[in-house]
Amino acid sequence: MNNFQKKPAEVETEQEQEQKKDKKSVYQSVRGMHDILPDETPYWRKTRHAFEEVSDFYGFSEIVTPIVEQADLFIKAVGQTSDIVEKEMYYLKQKSGSHSLVLRPENTASIVRAYAEHGMRRSVQHPVRLSYFGQFFRHERPQRGRYRQFWQAGLEIISNETDPIYDAQIILATYRFLEKLKLSGMLIRINSIGSLECRKQYIKKLKAFFKNDIKKLTTDQKKKLETNPLRLLDSKDENVQALLKGAPVILDCLSVPAKKHFTKTLELLDELQIPYILDHSLVRGLDYYTDTVFEVVLEQPAVAEPVPGEEPKEVIPPLSLGGGGRYDPLFKQFNLRDTAGVGAALGLERVIQALIEQQKIKPRVLKNPVFFVHIGDLAKKKSLPIIESLRNEKITIVETLGKGSLSSQLAAANKCNAVLALIYGQKEAFEESIIIRDMQTGAQETIPLSKMVKIIKKRLE
Ligand code: AMP
Repeated sequence: MNNFQKKPAEVETEQEQEQKKDKKSVYQSVRGMHDILPDETPYWRKTRHAFEEVSDFYGFSEIVTPIVEQADLFIKAVGQTSDIVEKEMYYLKQKSGSHSLVLRPENTASIVRAYAEHGMRRSVQHPVRLSYFGQFFRHERPQRGRYRQFWQAGLEIISNETDPIYDAQIILATYRFLEKLKLSGMLIRINSIGSLECRKQYIKKLKAFFKNDIKKLTTDQKKKLETNPLRLLDSKDENVQALLKGAPVILDCLSVPAKKHFTKTLELLDELQIPYILDHSLVRGLDYYTDTVFEVVLEQPAVAEPVPGEEPKEVIPPLSLGGGGRYDPLFKQFNLRDTAGVGAALGLERVIQALIEQQKIKPRVLKNPVFFVHIGDLAKKKSLPIIESLRNEKITIVETLGKGSLSSQLAAANKCNAVLALIYGQKEAFEESIIIRDMQTGAQETIPLSKMVKIIKKRLE
């Protein structure tokens, strides 16, 4: 454990308690927005690297869109009655301007906007495969795995035809990315919500099903039944889930083409041997989806039998690491005919939390560090070019040139597990030499600066 990790209260040192007091007296990060400290950044770098490798492998090109967009884009694309538009968008206070601006809550709408704006329909070979890695903003209630500023990595395939091959390719690349990170227990939950027409039929049936039970719903749930009834299906409320027993299933309302599309998608996943389960309750929160919708979750670890006399362990429901689906109707908003799209977005805080919990990435350890010790002002002045020449030779140098005393520098050398220390003082500066010290045995010798690189490399072999 190093300086950046948070420790449990009982092992806090006095210094840490002081730091905590200091912290109270200065600014804190905004609720729901979090710092990524240097202990965690290796996980982020590894995740980004794995994502880039997988997206390159499957032929995706990166697209970067602005963080600020017109509010109208999401109102039209994501849907007026979706949680994102109704409650979660961050509006910017502007001095002037006729458009309302927001911090982007998601990226598919922005990507389709960019696709239309830059005439990609004509200028780029289809299908267009695009990837992104960026930050998004939703004013949600912060809780485990849910932030107000969070990162997503995503993939989109935009094509001229609605072909299930693309649904399967998106799921495949998403799955391979998580596989590359060596996450275990991944499961794809998949469903089809059919075309807009199928959905209309289904919503009618669902509303009729709830007719006799309306009184049992809360005011909020009644409103949902009116404005966005599909969202009742994935409600976390036990009462709603109990009422839903025996409810009509959306798959039974699919049109022939919608059924065919879904069956083909599943067949392709079977060919690829990607494990999935059908989940009739999966609907996703964004209005633009049609046909295939899916989520990737981590299977829950088995819950141990409660020990008599002990509080039963809290069962934490599995968090969705990511999800996506087909969004063909979105293109009509941009007057683009005969264009179809399918995509996925992964929540990176959740992916990284899972990596940490599964201990899938080892913290970065410096390889064979060599510690550079200086003594006196003249040596300090001449130290930087020497260190530079060592780093150019790919020798890992650690130093605390700001510290003056020999003992504090040697203590730092021990702390970073240096194998060798280089000691450079006034005498050595005059003689163009340097002392090389074996940190394990304490043996040291003076060597000419001109031979330093060669000798260090040999000792490190
Ligand atoms: P969505 O864009 O809603 O389809 O979400 C895709 C994925 O992004 C989810 O499965 C989560 O992993 C992640 N995600 C969505 N909202 C949040 C949030 N507020 N905080 C952290 N991750 C989120």
